[in-house]
Amino acid sequence: MPRLTGKTHALIGAAVAAPIALSLGTATPPPPVGLAQLGVSSNLLAEAGLGALGVFVALLPDCDHPGSMLGRQFHVPLEHRGPVHSFFATAIWTGLSGLAAWKWVPWLLLPIVTVTALAYLSHLAADLTNPSPMALLWPIVRDKVRPGWLPALREHSLGGASLEALVTVTIVGIFGYKLATAFHHTGVVC
Ligand SMILES: [Zn+2]
Repeated sequence: MPRLTGKTHALIGAAVAAPIALSLGTATPPPPVGLAQLGVSSNLLAEAGLGALGVFVALLPDCDHPGSMLGRQFHVPLEHRGPVHSFFATAIWTGLSGLAAWKWVPWLLLPIVTVTALAYLSHLAADLTNPSPMALLWPIVRDKVRPGWLPALREHSLGGASLEALVTVTIVGIFGYKLATAFHHTGVVC
């Protein structure tokens, strides 16, 4: 069964998280002392954390496939593209991330919840380009569905490869710029 690669999902997750991470305000607690001495700001830590969260959550739905990037580490023994690929699962994971954020990093509650919801939905949206249906409306509709009018992309197609390349360049550019700016402020790079 053709499916999107984990790399594509991870890149889209990072692309979803990047604008939210970069729009963070500066009102975050100071970083641990050692990191502060290295010139790493709390904002940079939060931005990196949100980027990592976006990548992780965008990979999460494929934990129902033993051969996926995440499924090889921990496999949820449910039907592939079943309940885990649904709006219901999106709501559950978003709720859990909100609870965790509220307990440990309440100042990042809104960005964390937003990144989780959007990164999870990005996976479902990207999977819709695949001809295989999924249980999007589980548990209300238990059958797997896919709108018939949607065009289907093949893995490793020219369209897919171009999208991957475009997203990669954008992400590397954004984070390269952020790193360069951070080092510039510390005086490491003039
Ligand atoms: Zn999937």
